[in-house]
Amino acid sequence: NLTDRLEKSFKLLKGQGQITEINVAETLKDVRRALLDADVNFKIAKDFTNRVKDKAIGQKVLEAVKPGQMMVKIVHDELAELMGGETVDISLKKSPSVILMSGLQGSGKTTFSGKLANRLKSKQKKNPLLVACDVYRPAAIEQLKVVGESIGVSVYTEEDSKDPVKIARNAIKKAKAEGNDVVIIDTAGRLAIDEQMMQEIEAIKKAIEPDETLFVVDSMTGQDAVNTAKEFNERLNFDGVILTKLDGDTRGGAALSIRTVVNKPIKFVGTGEKMDAIDVFHPSRMSDRILGMGDIVSLVERAQEQFDEEEARKLQKKLAKNQFNFNDFLTQIQQIKKMGNLKDLAAMIPGMRKALNNIDLEDDAFKHIEAIIYSMTPDERNTPALIDGSRRKRIARGSGTDIQEVNRLIKQFGETRKMMKMVSQGGNVRKMASKAQ
Ligand code: GDP
Ligand code: MG
Repeated sequence: NLTDRLEKSFKLLKGQGQITEINVAETLKDVRRALLDADVNFKIAKDFTNRVKDKAIGQKVLEAVKPGQMMVKIVHDELAELMGGETVDISLKKSPSVILMSGLQGSGKTTFSGKLANRLKSKQKKNPLLVACDVYRPAAIEQLKVVGESIGVSVYTEEDSKDPVKIARNAIKKAKAEGNDVVIIDTAGRLAIDEQMMQEIEAIKKAIEPDETLFVVDSMTGQDAVNTAKEFNERLNFDGVILTKLDGDTRGGAALSIRTVVNKPIKFVGTGEKMDAIDVFHPSRMSDRILGMGDIVSLVERAQEQFDEEEARKLQKKLAKNQFNFNDFLTQIQQIKKMGNLKDLAAMIPGMRKALNNIDLEDDAFKHIEAIIYSMTPDERNTPALIDGSRRKRIARGSGTDIQEVNRLIKQFGETRKMMKMVSQGGNVRKMASKAQ
């Protein structure tokens, strides 16, 4: 897993406030390998790591976050940026709006046409018309009819016609007459780039001037997908890319390569054969996928928002000297609470989700703990060793808890202190998690 590898590469950095050139070089080798594993084109991977290097060197590392994690975030953000940064919707302007599908045979055009119609119908209350322009295979027309029926959307066909331009024109006329506000035109593909196919789809585009021309591509085809995208774009100047079959074990590097080579946004992804297996393309999520990490990026972001750097530095010193006391403990609880739902937060740490199933981590889990600490005198909070049996009884009474609970907290505190010391000496969260069980 790349995150582990990054953390290892950055062990050297412990104690330093900055990411340095030596450490970056090693890490970026890992990043490049991960990108290549994810089907990213070699040159793109190389340019990419060079850019990350420039960004990373000299970056100040937040105290609350390990340099390895910081580096992961830099890489992640740069990837997401490269894939367009934001989601891009299709634009429906004309009435009826016309959407033209293009792409090789088997890329998923017919399936995606159905998914899009279904989505427009259910989410935007549109009344779409599907159009069968794959005139070479009778089975293709039949397939679209089945799709249309399953989602309750009309399908326009001309069984005897061999002229897709004419079919497309007639379909738009029919849509106008019958009040369909979106026309989705499914076309014929070939197994490979083919001059006749290209001329045909060009002719359809020219005749009907669609609002959106979409290029549909199978994400499992890796590097080939990039070449196909390039050729289709040169001929059609399409408006957006649809990446299908992301439910397979592909890691989605094609997304990055295509985006970089044709400079067109990826608009939707297909994640299954069923009609609801369609998602808006999120560059940030694809970036997670390419890097093969958990949601560590969000964790870092929240930590950045919530942790006061100065505070963290002070704490670090105390931990190292083993002076961590109940006041600090209270501060930590408050910090954690500020960061939001505890269970959600912990679940973002890779590997923690499973471990958390058996652990009770409700947000009010701290209520009693806080009450007990508030019932301690300042001296007791600063020097927990003072808290003997009679003091424990008093604290239990004062906090409305019982002596067992007070005992448990003091015991837990001792353990936390040990754990904190371990962390401050370079242990990682995963080690904490396994100790906590
Ligand atoms: P077309 O030739 O471009 O029209 O491609 P089809 O829509 O007929 O799809 C080809 C095959 O891929 C069919 O078996 C589909 O069920 C399947 N398919 C399409 N999209 C997806 C997807 O997102 N995930 C999966 N698993 N299969 C898909
Ligand atoms: Mg088809």
